[in-house]
Amino acid sequence: MSRDRTREGLATRAARAGINADPGHGGIVAPINVAATYVREDPGVPGRFDYARTDAPTRALLAEAVAGLEGGAGACLTASGMAAIDLVLNLLPPGARVVAAHDCYGGTQRLFNARGPQRGFEIVYADATDLAALETALAPGAALLFLETPSNPRLRITDIEAASALGHAAGALVAVDNTVLSPAIQRPLELGADISVSSLTKIINGHSDMVGGVVCVREAALQENLAWWLNASGTGLGPFDAFLATRGLRTLPLRAKAQSEAALELAGRLARHAGVIRIDYPGLADHPGHGLAARQQAGLFGPLLSLEVKGDPRAFLEGLELFTLAQSLGGAESLVSVPALMTHAAMTPEARAHAGISDSLVRLSVGLEDVDDLWRDLETALTRL
Ligand SMILES: *Cc1c(COP(=O)(O)O)cnc(C)c1O
Repeated sequence: MSRDRTREGLATRAARAGINADPGHGGIVAPINVAATYVREDPGVPGRFDYARTDAPTRALLAEAVAGLEGGAGACLTASGMAAIDLVLNLLPPGARVVAAHDCYGGTQRLFNARGPQRGFEIVYADATDLAALETALAPGAALLFLETPSNPRLRITDIEAASALGHAAGALVAVDNTVLSPAIQRPLELGADISVSSLTKIINGHSDMVGGVVCVREAALQENLAWWLNASGTGLGPFDAFLATRGLRTLPLRAKAQSEAALELAGRLARHAGVIRIDYPGLADHPGHGLAARQQAGLFGPLLSLEVKGDPRAFLEGLELFTLAQSLGGAESLVSVPALMTHAAMTPEARAHAGISDSLVRLSVGLEDVDDLWRDLETALTRL
């Protein structure tokens, strides 16, 4: 009896990605295929694979797996998350109007602010969590609506379904940066978005040992267009990184659940601690986006939380031993960062203030360590303030 893959759950599909699919040797996992070029039977007719810039087996295996988890018609894999976002911009004509969430990732804003003047794009930032403000920003029409939910680092929640409807009414393609949650927790294409883009570097690979990105699309026509640009611009993911991310992907549902549960536990304890002024975690019942997040996410709230501590945040950072000071998020190891000085340093101070990113905001990415050890680390650092 053949498997009915359409009925299989997320964990099954992730764990089985490319398993028993090695016709050459019958390996349980597919080999890393490093060939730069592929033999042709006929000069005028390429085979399934032809030249590795265009596509290659190790990359294709991961693309199919991620597209399957996101519920998309296809996916393009790129050399980084930023290359994935830049690939999306290739879909736009010169002079296009782009409406983007005002608190989207700092690197995204750096790219948009540079591509804008270069290609004549009009880039408009709006508070996407405020649907009336979004509608106003979209009123003159737009070619692209770019959302990020939860936003990084303040974890504000945008209603993907409602915002996508507004974007479509304005004539825009709707893209969602799904990096913070991954398809194990949120699937923007099922909520009405046309494009779901993620950094593979973060929770999808989950082991902080490669850099990559992915663009998933709902419709095959868009996939063809993106694949054309991927080949033309040559920014695709290499086979070794694709292999690592495929290996990481197998445990994604498990990691997403464990890290979300630990983050929720720590957020609750931090919220009750006298040394904490404010905490942002959508899993907490009093978070302004909690109801919406509970509805559009798979009952999990992700590995990221941010907080303001009473006193000097540097003293807090220096008191931490398990949480390591480093950029990035979603890995098996817990990390701490100061967005204003690190991930969001590319934004102007005004843009940061507008997005609610103060100089003292501290962001935690919760990993897979024992939650009691993580709590002891946080509590010790808080008592030093
Ligand atoms: C890290 C990140 C990116 C960029 O991904 P890279 O792989 O570092 O290029 C984009 N969006 C968000 C939300 C991120 O956290």
